[in-house]
Amino acid sequence: MVNEKSKELGSNPSVIRDLFEYGKKRKQEIGENKVFDFSIGNPSVPPPKSVTNALINLLQTADPTTLHGYTSAVGDKTTREAISQYLNKTYQANTNSDLIYLTAGAAASLTITLNAILNKDEEVIVFAPFFPEYSVFIEKAGGVVKIVNPIEPTFTPNFEEFEKVITKKTKAVILNSPNNPTGVMLKEEDIKILCAILDKKQKEFNSTIYLISDEPYRELIYNEEEYPFITNHYKESIVCYSFSKSVSLPGERIGYILVNPQALNAKEVFYAICGAGRALGFVCAPALFQYLIPHCLGKTSDLSVYKKNRDLLYSALTEYGYEVVSPDGAFYLFVKALEEDAIAFSEAAKQFELLLVPSNSFGFNGYVRISYCVPTKQIKSSLPAFKKLIEHYKNKGEK
Ligand code: PLP
Repeated sequence: MVNEKSKELGSNPSVIRDLFEYGKKRKQEIGENKVFDFSIGNPSVPPPKSVTNALINLLQTADPTTLHGYTSAVGDKTTREAISQYLNKTYQANTNSDLIYLTAGAAASLTITLNAILNKDEEVIVFAPFFPEYSVFIEKAGGVVKIVNPIEPTFTPNFEEFEKVITKKTKAVILNSPNNPTGVMLKEEDIKILCAILDKKQKEFNSTIYLISDEPYRELIYNEEEYPFITNHYKESIVCYSFSKSVSLPGERIGYILVNPQALNAKEVFYAICGAGRALGFVCAPALFQYLIPHCLGKTSDLSVYKKNRDLLYSALTEYGYEVVSPDGAFYLFVKALEEDAIAFSEAAKQFELLLVPSNSFGFNGYVRISYCVPTKQIKSSLPAFKKLIEHYKNKGEK
């Protein structure tokens, strides 16, 4: 008999991937440009030129046995130092390269971190709507998912609810801002409130509650603001970072975990991370891309494309009559479904060749997610379909 939980996970692939696969098939049937696939967060903007050039240069000049060889399990020391220096300079943070673990992207960072800190049946709080894999990672690590619903229509955390959900079994909270799927970015005041609640509850229960900041979208912000650096606000914090979205390298699987040196048992937490990485087989992240990291720090792909896409789509959809959550960052729009059941709405959208992810997979009902990291021409050519979709619902209502 195989492991039941793993079998269940494998036989029910993610709704996002399902829709993406449907889109590929549909494109073969009716043509590439006739399907408006907004399912997956795969950046359409190439990595910065300087990053590509640095990669070529590494391949042409570095010793190939080093470049493609094993690094130490935690990752290359020079790269970890470069990350630490960059963060300290950029955010006036106080990070330490000895507490940085290089990983195969944010997914690996999260699953390693959760396996490192969780004992059986300990609780992890997530704010809905949330990245669907959180439940998978938490439950596979033996934890229990606790969901806090947002305040609508701003989709900011409901701090009153949050405070009530924290118990002595709470081991961690996962925060993702700018957010997938809403695009909402928390303000510094929000972070301060959240951290004050956690400090208060740690004292009340005489416990340690880790704040895991999942940050693949840290740099994807379209106003003048900067997202606060979490270790400056809360001692028991762990950052899970990825280069997948900031410099468009999702397939290369590269990122890191950072433990706040000010955490009470920072060294112990880091050892647990090394142990979880070892047990999960996530040692020595892809070496070539470890060596590329110093050339990626502080760089982003051309964000003006995403900004343009967001503005085009947001203004067109609101003009047509859709209710859209106001997005500050990441590359997703969260749109209210035109009927109660978001899955039925997503199915109806398929008639117009629009592939929209129903929000149920994000632990929240009644919305769909539009991933707008697609070529701008796809946004432009999809607008008539969005218009037809809302007209279809208006006509249905009038009948
Ligand atoms: N966390 C969030 C919120 C995401 O949206 C994603 C990917 O879309 C991940 C984690 C996983 O990122 P990675 O590709 O770096 O594993």
